[in-house]
Amino acid sequence: MAQVHDVAVVGGGLLGASIAWGLARLGQKVVVLDEGDAVRRASRANFALVWVQGKGAGMPPYANWSVEASRQWPGFAEALEEQTGLDVHYQRPGGFHICLNEDELAARQRVVEGMYAQGAPEGYGLEMTSREDLEKALPEIGPEVVGASYSPHDGHVNSLRTFRALHEGLRAFGADYRPDHMVDAIEPQPGGGFVLHTEQGRVEAAKVVLAAGNGNERLAPHVGLFAPMMPTRGQIIVTERVRPFLHYPLGTLRQTDEGTVMIGDSKEDVLDDGETRVPVSTVMADRARRTFPLLNRLNVVRTWSGIRVMTRDGFPVYDQSASAPGAFVACCHSGVTLASMHALDLARRIRDGGLGGALAPFSARRFADAPETLLNSDAAA
Ligand SMILES: Cc1cc2nc3c(=O)[nH]c(=O)nc-3n(C[C@H](O)[C@H](O)[C@H](O)COP(=O)(O)OP(=O)(O)OC[C@H]3O[C@@H](n4cnc5c(N)ncnc54)[C@H](O)[C@@H]3O)c2cc1C
Repeated sequence: MAQVHDVAVVGGGLLGASIAWGLARLGQKVVVLDEGDAVRRASRANFALVWVQGKGAGMPPYANWSVEASRQWPGFAEALEEQTGLDVHYQRPGGFHICLNEDELAARQRVVEGMYAQGAPEGYGLEMTSREDLEKALPEIGPEVVGASYSPHDGHVNSLRTFRALHEGLRAFGADYRPDHMVDAIEPQPGGGFVLHTEQGRVEAAKVVLAAGNGNERLAPHVGLFAPMMPTRGQIIVTERVRPFLHYPLGTLRQTDEGTVMIGDSKEDVLDDGETRVPVSTVMADRARRTFPLLNRLNVVRTWSGIRVMTRDGFPVYDQSASAPGAFVACCHSGVTLASMHALDLARRIRDGGLGGALAPFSARRFADAPETLLNSDAAA
């Protein structure tokens, strides 16, 4: 049966939009089916780091994938701007993970050593920085800061503008974006291809990509796939605008291109993103003002919480179904960081019909080998 669509992407968040944009750029006829623009998405709640340091502790291929994502970001941002005229303000000055006492410094040193012990990617460049050196880069740090780790691959971006650019780009490529199309069921067809059932009717496509965030867990079994999720919640605080003083992103602090300071982001086992908890914000704000005392003088203008898309071990899942070839699943935390890889690399693999050996370690089959695997806290950094 000839299909109208080459690929149906389920989920119009950052993952679905990045993959769909990459596929449409390669000339594929793409339809994106999403629950609806009013739905709360991780893609609108994130901290907007393009962050590499510490990613992949315990899973070296993820460390490589993250470094490559950082290397691909300039070209990705350029392609988005060229197509849509939107500057997503990607910057890669390198980033610091700040330590406020000797215990934190020793723990961070162990993380850095661990990354090299497991075989860090070429040109990894992660290193510890003394307070003295830190003062040259961040002259306004507070007296409690004792040192930091530094990675030259870390950066940040305006992630909401990136999200918008991807959707504008999709439209410009002629992709068919359908909000209010919650997919209830997917049927692999005997002769190949898939029928996706929504309340608005059925949609047919030769391939299907599940990029529905935490919703992948429910959809994956429809096409013989598996996506075990363990979402967590994160809170973020935003201050009023202030003169530029923070020229490097930190793991939990960054100054946006608009001048506000974002303070992030908690990790809680609560799945209600309809509220923010003051005791959690207090801990975050306290740490931020100890890092930069000038923050004491700023008003908070916004705060929110969001639910992270998180696999059970914290590492990405990319897989193709063995029983229904042409059905793929993609889910991960760090969808901002990895957007470049999803758009420029993963999309090409999906177009070509196979994920290839390089992505084999990301198969969800790893959970069958170690069913008890639980969240790796560094993976969620
Ligand atoms: C507090 C916080 C801080 C973060 N900080 C960072 C950071 O600094 N750097 C970074 O790289 N990442 C960060 N992230 C993670 C990043 O935001 C996510 O990895 C990314 O947004 C995930 O995108 P997604 O498209 O998979 O999920 P979502 O944005 O949740 O989108 C999933 C979409 O699928 C749709 N959907 C679900 N089920 C169905 C269905 N059955 N049919 C149709 N559509 C469906 C939903 O409506 C939704 O639109 C952060 C996340 C949070 C919450």
